Amino acid sequence: MKEECGVFGIFNHPEASRLATLGLHALQHRGQEAAGIASWGSHGFCRRVGLGLVSSVFDRRKLSALSGHLAIGHVRYATAGRGGVRNAQPLVAQSFWGKMALAHNGNLTNSGELKRRLQRRGVRFTSSSDTEVILRALSLERGDLSGALRRVLAAVRGAYSLVVATPQALMAVRDPKGFRPLCLGSYGESYLVASETCAFDLIGAQYLRDVAPGEILRLDSGGLSSSYLEEAVRRSFCVFELVYFAKPSSRAGEASVYQVRRQMGRELAREAPVRADRVIPVPDSAVVHAEGFAEESGIPFAMALIRSHYVGRTFIEPRQSIRDFGAKLKYAVVREAVCARRVVLVDDSIVRGTTCRKLVRLIYDAGAREVHLRIGSPPITHPCFYGIDTPTQKELVASRLSVEEIRKFLGVESLAFLSVEGMLRATGKTPEDFCTACFTGQYREDGERIRSQLDASRSAKLCAS
Ligand code: SF4
Repeated sequence: MKEECGVFGIFNHPEASRLATLGLHALQHRGQEAAGIASWGSHGFCRRVGLGLVSSVFDRRKLSALSGHLAIGHVRYATAGRGGVRNAQPLVAQSFWGKMALAHNGNLTNSGELKRRLQRRGVRFTSSSDTEVILRALSLERGDLSGALRRVLAAVRGAYSLVVATPQALMAVRDPKGFRPLCLGSYGESYLVASETCAFDLIGAQYLRDVAPGEILRLDSGGLSSSYLEEAVRRSFCVFELVYFAKPSSRAGEASVYQVRRQMGRELAREAPVRADRVIPVPDSAVVHAEGFAEESGIPFAMALIRSHYVGRTFIEPRQSIRDFGAKLKYAVVREAVCARRVVLVDDSIVRGTTCRKLVRLIYDAGAREVHLRIGSPPITHPCFYGIDTPTQKELVASRLSVEEIRKFLGVESLAFLSVEGMLRATGKTPEDFCTACFTGQYREDGERIRSQLDASRSAKLCAS
């Protein structure tokens, strides 16, 4: 499971693009393939994008070109469309309102159909990103920008948190089900929007509130105004943001990520107790789950797995004699913390299970007597179509194997997952307000189309076998 994208926007600040760069640094965990900023000011419009991390894309020269009082930014992980600089956002088009730029976090489920419709009207596309469908459709519109967004987005299905900017205004929009997060903040006389509040914290801005599902926020010289895409529909905030994607220091889905994650660990300890000597997290994402598990169970917590943050790609082919090479490059075990002990290894989720299996082996090799595995979310059985990059269904270990079969595959003494009910209880919110499709298969947007796609790929596999 890979993070999707992060968006940022700021209106009415003389250092808008510099603050946008800082905001993107804070959102870097949401996408590392590309970064970009578009800005507007008295010198006109400027856009700079590039492949790689924010720190490698923006140097002093690029930043000084990005002058102005309004800026939007994006960090990208490609969930739709290929990688490459052509797909780096913000995407830009000429429009009725002047130069318009758009940055998107999410995934549209009917972008192919919308694209073909626009192509029949003679519209040309320059990227393979689903985001361009919204931009091109908007660029054909006239009149009030909020009304134009309402008309265009009425035909769009799927997940989107958008920032759209023209020379006069910054718009922030969230799809009616609110799959992906989007927050509003203030900084002196300026307003900001960002995927997560960690972007506000870095700058020293104030979090005001979440952009509501289906809300269109407009920030312009007249201040802040709000309208809605349609009447309230069933909210479907991505629960996986709270399990894994969002930073523990952020607020997401109107909740403290840290508190929800810790509560998930506590629920897990209540649901699946175990006799052990140490609770060990898989760093970095499961540290807070493990903290909650240790608190609830009374078993001492130990940072016995150390993750290296300096591993890039390696082109050295591991031989059988040095198997687990990849896992050893990334993780080291503190032998003194596990040797001759019964350990509870806590992870946030299991996708393919291959990394987890290697980690279990490393811990046994370091002398652990027993390894019990506890997972801070339910088994992932279905792929995501709303902005998270997941493997195909057949690659998800929990879609093929029972819990007992997974336990044997991983080689652990015992294995337990947090229940769906326990996960939702930990949020402290109304359970019906969350999307849980990757755990339950209950797709709330374009469900019929998605289920028929999954059925088709399953029967294609049956025919081939
Ligand atoms: S399917 Fe899973 S990852 Fe995708 S939006 Fe729903 S909860 Fe989030």
